Amino acid sequence: MPYENARVPQENVGVPAYGGYIFDLDGTLYLGEALIPGADETVAALRERGAQVMFVSNKPIATRRTYAEKLTRLGIPAEVEEVLTSPLALADYIAANHDAPHVLVIGEEPVIAELEAVGCQIVDEAAETDIVVISWDRQVTYDRLEEAFQALRQGAKFYVTNPDVTCPLETGEVSDAGAAMAYLQACSGRKPDHIAGKPYPALAHAAMQRMGVTPQQTIFTGDRLQTDLLCGKNAGCATAIVLTGVTTEADIAELPEDMRPDCVLKSIAELG
Ligand SMILES: [Mg+2]
Repeated sequence: MPYENARVPQENVGVPAYGGYIFDLDGTLYLGEALIPGADETVAALRERGAQVMFVSNKPIATRRTYAEKLTRLGIPAEVEEVLTSPLALADYIAANHDAPHVLVIGEEPVIAELEAVGCQIVDEAAETDIVVISWDRQVTYDRLEEAFQALRQGAKFYVTNPDVTCPLETGEVSDAGAAMAYLQACSGRKPDHIAGKPYPALAHAAMQRMGVTPQQTIFTGDRLQTDLLCGKNAGCATAIVLTGVTTEADIAELPEDMRPDCVLKSIAELG
């Protein structure tokens, strides 16, 4: 246990020090292509202090390498191993609970790659399917959805990378994995057996496991109340909300007391 006494007291800083720091990306460390001022220094200072950092994203259509390269380009050097996406968190869960399962995937290459890396065999036929994995797939067809439905009818497990119904892009909102999930819920009458992404705790659990820290030693920092804050709370971590993304101080004031974040920060720069 590298961080047994991770909450070391600190002077002159409002946020206590933790052993593990989980960061949301867009709205928290950067906005689109622009680094949030001070995000680079904050992460560097935490690393200097010996803390572990993990960068997490629900988005299942980009690879971890893409995020690591983007962070590095913007001034936060990041290894692929420090990035955790919802497909990887789901692959972790499948590896822990199944042995070389046959998986029917509605999802794109980054999802398939993470599943294959833990020994999943990708199949196309409902009759061969142990697990249906639902993700964001911009090429999805009626036939594919129908095959997934039939697999669910035949008793396959129903796993989902991320529950987001839409994803905000610069050009507007587009439908995401949660929309395909809703379609299959509607026709099968089943609820997913497991959802890996925020606000469910699997993403945070996978991050903590990689950092070798406990929830008590970890703080989850993000900009969204319905995803980041809930994911941190559901995983038992401390939580920080930054006001550089979608959330305002007024939104936080409306929350019941027990649902408020442990820290509210004007920006990530205040965390260091
Ligand atoms: Mg965000």
